[in-house]
Amino acid sequence: MALFPCPECDKQISDKASTCPHCGVPIRIKKSFSEMTGSEKILKVLSSLIIFLSISFVSALGLYWVGTRIFGL
Ligand SMILES: [Zn+2]
Repeated sequence: MALFPCPECDKQISDKASTCPHCGVPIRIKKSFSEMTGSEKILKVLSSLIIFLSISFVSALGLYWVGTRIFGL
């Protein structure tokens, strides 16, 4: 656990905190892609791939449904 100064009130807060306990400002610590470990990178790539595939699947299914219902294909 590391401490760093709050961007709003400059008091020391934990890097695990989602909000500053002193002033309540939301803290967002976003790791850059280069700072990620190998497994984190794989997980990020995989999750975006899964999201992309499910969106394509749903839109393909929707197009198929529209095609069968409206155009009688
Ligand atoms: Zn603060």
